[in-house]
Amino acid sequence: MSTPISITAPQAPSFYGLTRDELRESLERRGEPPYRASQLFSWIYRRHQRDPEAMTDLPGALRRELPEWFGLALPATASVHASPDGLTHKFVLALADGARVECVSMRTERRLTLCLSSQVGCALKCSFCATGLMGLKRNLAAGEIVAQVLAMGDFHSWEDDRFNLVFMGMGEPLANYRAVMDAVRIVHDPDGMNLGARRITVSTSGLVPQMRQLAEEGIPVGLAVSLHATTDALRDEMVPVNKRWPLGELIPAARDYGRVSGRRVTLEYTLIAGVNDSMEDADRLSAVARDLPSKINLIPYNPVPGLPWRRPAPEAVEAFAQRLYPRAPAVTVRHTMGGEIWAACGQLGGLSTET
Ligand code: SAH
Ligand code: SF4
Repeated sequence: MSTPISITAPQAPSFYGLTRDELRESLERRGEPPYRASQLFSWIYRRHQRDPEAMTDLPGALRRELPEWFGLALPATASVHASPDGLTHKFVLALADGARVECVSMRTERRLTLCLSSQVGCALKCSFCATGLMGLKRNLAAGEIVAQVLAMGDFHSWEDDRFNLVFMGMGEPLANYRAVMDAVRIVHDPDGMNLGARRITVSTSGLVPQMRQLAEEGIPVGLAVSLHATTDALRDEMVPVNKRWPLGELIPAARDYGRVSGRRVTLEYTLIAGVNDSMEDADRLSAVARDLPSKINLIPYNPVPGLPWRRPAPEAVEAFAQRLYPRAPAVTVRHTMGGEIWAACGQLGGLSTET
């Protein structure tokens, strides 16, 4: 006797993971004219209308069929955590397979910044990072990355249609290159959100081949390099991927990215007391910064439970910044937002593992 095989229809792909070209091809295969893709991008990403019935310039038959062709549901927002000052919100999204992913919105006087995750966990195990402690659970799909933007935009009622996007949440964006680039293309699309490349920043721990690939994409997004140490001996310990691509390869790749994109590369430098905050460290850092078009972003360490590292005293952070100043004039100290809700840099991960 043969065992019955249950055949389930293949799941409709998420709308939010399709670039406009992919959407157009998919619609054309179903006999729709090419301009439908632009219409749909405009409804969904510009007018923020995700209910096909409200898309009044589409034929009725198409409106009825759309939900069968494409997944239009967003992941549920499992929880939102507001900082006491109300400016920072951390969102926990529940994905279809039960995985949870975190993203953060930060409001300053000038703008709204949305911080996106690219992976559930991270394989790279930087010694100081909460996400690294989780290990890599999986890559996010492009649609799951775009969905973070939509969930946070909905929450803020799309009051700001010109926000900044930073890939500085969970995961190493360049280790999930294809999905991150598709998400960038989707939010950058002129028929949709039309978010300028200047408003998008990708942060990397230093995957040199992908940095070089990014330079060729023709979308000059900002690049932030998580430097954190200026000698290979120390960087090998803090950012283990340095053993694969040491400073002698990383710095030229950053320099080339700056040249091709026409943008200064951000050097991120997390200051950890007694580890990388000496005056000699500052001098080496300013020498690196002088050597390529860059700006330095100092991040006073955000403590992670279970890890021994500490943030330097405010005076030590100030002394480090001052020491850089004459030689490396473009220095900012990242004002830590969201520390109270474990939403600051490198603290994401804690709530994702809650069951
Ligand atoms: N995986 C990417 C982007 C995510 S983290 C990367 O590593 O670049 C964003 C920045 O926060 C990185 O520079 C990262 O090294 C830094 N970071 C990680 N943990 C931190 C912590 N506990 N305190 C301060 N910065 C941290
Ligand atoms: Fe991964 Fe970035 Fe954390 Fe390193 S700092 S473990 S690359 S998320």
